[in-house]
Amino acid sequence: MVPEAAQCVKCGLCLAECPTYALTGNEAQSPRGRITLIQALDAGQLRPDGHGAEILDSCLLCRRCEAICPSAVPFGSLMDRGRSMVRAKLPLGERLLSTLLSRPGLSRPLVGLGKLLPRAIPAGRLAAQASSAHRKPRTLYRPEGREAVGRVGLFTGCTGSLLDSDALDAALVLLLQAGYEVAVPAGQGCCGALEAHAGNDGRARRLMEANRAAFDAAGPLEAIVSIATGCGAHLHGQASLPARHEDVCGLLAREEVLARLRFRPARATVAVHLPCSLVNVLKTEQAVLSLLERVPDLQLREIGRRGACCGAAGTAAMLRPRLAKKLRQPLVEEIEAMQPDMVVSSNPSCRLHLADGDGSGAAYVHPLVLLAQQLVRE
Ligand code: SF4
Ligand code: SF4
Repeated sequence: MVPEAAQCVKCGLCLAECPTYALTGNEAQSPRGRITLIQALDAGQLRPDGHGAEILDSCLLCRRCEAICPSAVPFGSLMDRGRSMVRAKLPLGERLLSTLLSRPGLSRPLVGLGKLLPRAIPAGRLAAQASSAHRKPRTLYRPEGREAVGRVGLFTGCTGSLLDSDALDAALVLLLQAGYEVAVPAGQGCCGALEAHAGNDGRARRLMEANRAAFDAAGPLEAIVSIATGCGAHLHGQASLPARHEDVCGLLAREEVLARLRFRPARATVAVHLPCSLVNVLKTEQAVLSLLERVPDLQLREIGRRGACCGAAGTAAMLRPRLAKKLRQPLVEEIEAMQPDMVVSSNPSCRLHLADGDGSGAAYVHPLVLLAQQLVRE
């Protein structure tokens, strides 16, 4: 039984917000169509086949439909359930890729090999932007020369040290300056989002259980903070974690925390990309903007339609490049017309995907990296 599916009253309000419905005009490729399919699979009226798998698999999991649904249908978890019903029919490459990427012991050596590939091919460009060096963080950081105002756990994730090591360093700098003691438990790993999205709910649960145990062993925590919004969207609301999850920008933008941070001016134009996971699930887009607005002289220009998917969608940019490029194109045109000094985005796969199509020459960073660069260290 999938009781959440029964919450859908089939009103169709979500259709206008769905990027795959907008591109195809096909009801089956809409949130309502996908929910109806999951219900039919669940009731045994349809058998899992390649066509059903394709319909569920083409969903970008942008969760725009969830954000606007008047019946509060939890579309993200519903889609993970649906994909677990058709997992055997999902493309083998997708199932292997999610398992590979969630195991840094496997993905790190492959990134090293990928760096030998020419940049003309997507795998070569991806590897060129990843770090193959393994830098193990300490398990505990304390603010120097003062009492900590609180204690948080920092979630690093599986791809964090590969694609977001600068952002992890920046998060530590900002949290310590804000007065937090930061625990970085050694036993943590992949959040399980990629496996859940590939229908492997068993392994996704085991990965979450390993994270629960790792953060539990770290002692009392006010919150578990994450930097990549794709991981954050999966961690958010997980009842099994020993502390509530919070997007790091949401925590840093709290009034009392922000009062402890000062920034040097930066004369730069910055294109701000707000990922769909940030807007539709974490809902901390205003926190990101408030933090960046604290940097004097920075010219901020938001790009894209707020809450819309850029096409990166986890592994979709690799698995569905045509769809991903179509969704990216308007954003790339906006960036190229703007010619910013920098593009900031809180999700590594969005940054890689946008940078891959952008000829503006702008630098692509996590907003935390820019904030840490401009931080007045006291
Ligand atoms: S998912 Fe929500 S918005 Fe979409 S049809 Fe169902 S009830 Fe309506
Ligand atoms: S998650 Fe995004 S792509 Fe999937 S059905 Fe909802 S709006 Fe459409």
